[in-house]
Amino acid sequence: MPPKIAEVIEYDVCAACGACEAVCPIGAVTVKKAAEIRDPNDLSLYEKGAGYQVCEGCFTCGRVCPVVDGFIEDELANVRSFFAAKAKDSKGSQDGGTSTAILKALFRKGEIDCAVGITRNEKWEPEVVLLTSEEDVERTRGTKYTSDPILSALREAFDKYDRIAVVGVPCQAHAARLIRENVNEKIVLIVGLLCMESFHHDVMLEKIVPEILQVKLEDIWKMEFTKGKFWVYTNDGEVHSVPIKDVARFARNPCHHCCDYTSVFADISVGSVGAADGWNSVFIRTEIGEKYFDLVREDLEINEDPKPGLELVGKLIDMKRKGNAEHYVEVCEKFSFEAAGIRKETI
Ligand SMILES: Cc1cc2nc3c(=O)[nH]c(=O)nc-3n(C[C@H](O)[C@H](O)[C@H](O)COP(=O)(O)OP(=O)(O)OC[C@H]3O[C@@H](n4cnc5c(N)ncnc54)[C@H](O)[C@@H]3O)c2cc1C
Ligand code: SF4
Ligand code: SF4
Ligand code: SF4
Repeated sequence: MPPKIAEVIEYDVCAACGACEAVCPIGAVTVKKAAEIRDPNDLSLYEKGAGYQVCEGCFTCGRVCPVVDGFIEDELANVRSFFAAKAKDSKGSQDGGTSTAILKALFRKGEIDCAVGITRNEKWEPEVVLLTSEEDVERTRGTKYTSDPILSALREAFDKYDRIAVVGVPCQAHAARLIRENVNEKIVLIVGLLCMESFHHDVMLEKIVPEILQVKLEDIWKMEFTKGKFWVYTNDGEVHSVPIKDVARFARNPCHHCCDYTSVFADISVGSVGAADGWNSVFIRTEIGEKYFDLVREDLEINEDPKPGLELVGKLIDMKRKGNAEHYVEVCEKFSFEAAGIRKETI
């Protein structure tokens, strides 16, 4: 019997988080680095064809797949505290630099041995990297709106390191939590980002930026989705934008089935929505999150009562779920196994 992830791929809802690759004991699954546009009739995203040629049927991959696990109905139920934060050194970061500051402080204090992150070259081609120092973390500042299977990098990390931090979008934070709970306890901290959607490399780098915005990738120093528009900032000081509604339909198909906006399964969630410009919204969700945040607090400015606050976050949670929840439930009905669907209990 093929593993559950084979159906996740077949129905084109694989988020390409990379968790199955990280945990498969025999290396049967390889999520291609570039996470190609998914064709449900072409399972070559998995180079060895998960489940079909070499799989030994241990089913570990299904226990770490966020799509198989399903979503939580009330995203904010496990939030222990919510506030805004800004790193004392936020230069080059997407927003307040909180996610970078957390990792840098934990390396400086000897609390982690390794973290996973994403860097990019001047053409905005992303690269998944294992970080082992504060200098490495510097290279990952800034949001890349393309998708990469960052958890695949855990395969090497599990071999070499004992205390690993993960920073990733909600599907990746969710899968990292499932790995920690079911397979490998070496993930000591999960920092989840907020995420409305992400894009395939080809679509973002060959269509949206050059064709729709008519800007050269090499000229861009920052991309941003905010205030209803997709913005790109160029080195000559110009700002170009397009309404989000004109590009959102190009988001990856799995993102149209995703019902996690705020990284429910993370220890600490970090975003921009809910906080002032240049700051991060921060959600502490677990005891682990509390413990690690206390260790790095001195590197951050904190605003305990940010505006516009949680009310706006709640509106965006609803906006993301509208349509997506229906799409996800429809796919769950096609699965031959019982998928978790959307669960009422919290975590
Ligand atoms: C695809 C995507 C969509 C997002 N959508 C929203 C949104 O709708 N609302 C909102 O409030 N926030 C959103 N965010 C989060 C926001 O863009 C910032 O990442 C967050 O506010 C943290 O800011 P920072 O200043 O601490 O990050 P920085 O200090 O600049 O650090 C960036 C961190 O993000 C990681 N990273 C960058 N790109 C990716 C990627 N593609 N996948 C995984 N990790 C990555 C880097 O490795 C690094 O750790 C999104 C992020 C991504 C990646
Ligand atoms: S069922 Fe086991 S052997 Fe097969 S792909 Fe999944 S993790 Fe690998
Ligand atoms: S674990 Fe991640 S990469 Fe693997 S099938 Fe599930 S969503 Fe896709
Ligand atoms: S919307 Fe974001 S969290 Fe959800 S599948 Fe897409 S990239 Fe992952």
